[in-house]
Amino acid sequence: MVPTKDRNQSGVLIRYKNEGILVDCGEGMQRQFKQKGIPLTRVTKILIPHWHGDHVFGLPGVMSTLGTLEYGKTLEIYGPKGTKKHLENMFKAFVFDRRIKFEVKEVKSGRFFENKEFCLETLPLEHGVITLGYSFVENDIRHVDAKKAKKLGIPNGPLLGKLQRNESVSFEGKKVNPKDVTYVEKGKKIIVIADTVPCRNAVKLAKDADLLICESTYDSKLEEKGEAYGHMTGKQAGLVANQANAKKLVLTHFSARYKTTHEVEEDAKGVFDNSIAAKDFMVFKI
Ligand SMILES: [Zn+2]
Ligand SMILES: [Zn+2]
Repeated sequence: MVPTKDRNQSGVLIRYKNEGILVDCGEGMQRQFKQKGIPLTRVTKILIPHWHGDHVFGLPGVMSTLGTLEYGKTLEIYGPKGTKKHLENMFKAFVFDRRIKFEVKEVKSGRFFENKEFCLETLPLEHGVITLGYSFVENDIRHVDAKKAKKLGIPNGPLLGKLQRNESVSFEGKKVNPKDVTYVEKGKKIIVIADTVPCRNAVKLAKDADLLICESTYDSKLEEKGEAYGHMTGKQAGLVANQANAKKLVLTHFSARYKTTHEVEEDAKGVFDNSIAAKDFMVFKI
């Protein structure tokens, strides 16, 4: 929420092939990129959960600096209703000498982006102001089982290509089905749940997540405070992970009162073993 000596405000970068999807753009974001050695130009999309300052104070800086770099792409910005107006106001508030090309889309619920490899989905959360949780869902990938292909004698080439695209082929007078020589690897799923109280949509969005990144502002001793301010405790985040059958939970968005995040992490671990409190610059490969 408030930056501390050891913790920056929120920002999660999902790196997938040429995509750099930044969820949250807290204050100091461009410097975090510098420190981690990731070029700012890596960002292709920014997903805004809501317009409380701690999630967007880094936007003017990021967009202004991108204007001085050889960006060349059109930055895609997604956010809840009102995002266009907020951005217009931002551009009125500051002088931007050089602007990058960008596109803004206001999203509400469900799938809002897809290509051949992955899709992005959203659901509204409960935080007093309009707030969205986001999911990155990779498509399932069909692989050729080299052993099976060899056994059937199918050579490398267009026939295997067709089978990999889930089409049946005819080989030496016999029909070969994709399931005879290929197998499907489940696509990965990453979820970012920003500010909210525990709610059904958080569980729905996080269903079977490989990685669930979830706010946990407090520990259970301050559960009432969480409810009053529209936030979760570590335990509540753990319960979301549990109910959603997530594989791993990463806790973020801690109250500045916590010198270390140990208490919040332990709070979550009480109900969900595979929990870890995020630290700045942490990387997860899934
Ligand atoms: Zn926040
Ligand atoms: Zn908020």
